[in-house]
Amino acid sequence: MEIKVGVIGTGAIGIEHIHRINGKTQGARVTAVSDINVDAATALAKSIDAEFFATGEALIASDQVDVVVVTSWDPTHEQYVLEAIKHGKYVFCEKPLAMDSDGCRRIVDAEIAYGKKLVQVGFMRRYDRGYIELKEAIHSGKYGEPLMLHCAHRNPSADENYTTPMAISNTAIHEIDALRWLVEEDYASVQLLLPKKTRNSHKDLHDPQLLIFETTSGITIDLEVFVNCRFGYDIKCDVVCEEAEIGLTDPTYIRTKAEERNYTAISPDWQTRFLEAYDYEFQIWVQAIQEDKFTGPTAWDGYTASITMMALHEARETGKKVNIALETCPDIYL
Ligand code: NAP
Repeated sequence: MEIKVGVIGTGAIGIEHIHRINGKTQGARVTAVSDINVDAATALAKSIDAEFFATGEALIASDQVDVVVVTSWDPTHEQYVLEAIKHGKYVFCEKPLAMDSDGCRRIVDAEIAYGKKLVQVGFMRRYDRGYIELKEAIHSGKYGEPLMLHCAHRNPSADENYTTPMAISNTAIHEIDALRWLVEEDYASVQLLLPKKTRNSHKDLHDPQLLIFETTSGITIDLEVFVNCRFGYDIKCDVVCEEAEIGLTDPTYIRTKAEERNYTAISPDWQTRFLEAYDYEFQIWVQAIQEDKFTGPTAWDGYTASITMMALHEARETGKKVNIALETCPDIYL
């Protein structure tokens, strides 16, 4: 059975996902789109033989749509996800699930009331080959317990619209989810340090920032977020275990020896670095829907990421360590 997908939000990543679903994902096709930019979305719908809907709500209600992808502007995510749950339709929502933890909680409560997991959050790191192998190695038992993680999220440059809190809400949010998933533990506390600021930043952005997480068993994680590092898009994750260090390498590039130098390339941007992860994420999502066996990051994961994000904002503003007390995970998400 080919799944009919409706996409709300046909901006940059919406268009990428549409081409990903139509061109690379088996078992699904985009049949409907909606966006407030009517002319561009209508032209796009025509080019892929899909129907344009004037509102996201109309798209969700249509029988031309089995499942929904939300790639619109951040503040609209919650309303579309709640609407999809109301119609009992699976919904893939790009991060953030909602603007704050209260919004994420409303989604969790709606899903629990419906009685079935329908929501997947776009935390694509979980589909990266390196992170998958790292998780398998950590939990293989061969190297003892993980004790410390040293991580970095570096980006070549950020524009004037990128401000200090966005280092957490737009950038570190991926590690907030991925590292918790990797060690299979919740966070107990967070701290945030503001090191010397790079001259390549602007007045509304403190860059870099150093985030420190402690998990419930005491694993300490340091994460450098440096969005004007200039040299490329660089993701690091080294896990120090009791008897080994296991870490991500750079994705496979050629090595060049020339002009008395020996070098390999660095990814230029996140699209290149995580291209395969996005493709795999969508293929697994479609497969899970076909088999009615949900496996991806849930609304609960979106909720806990949001709680952690808000604790990090508080840690930055107060300069203090902030404890995180999560409620017990509801049965539906276990
Ligand atoms: P974008 O280019 O601005 O696209 C968003 C689109 O949604 C725009 O066309 C926007 O119209 C439209 N829109 C705004 N309000 C709407 C509404 N009420 N109903 C329907 N459409 C509406 O942004 P983007 O870069 O594609 O990002 C989209 C989402 O994906 C964001 O939430 C972002 O955080 C997320 N994202 C995730 C990743 C990841 O790695 N997982 C990467 C990139 C982006 P206007 O242009 O007129 O506002």
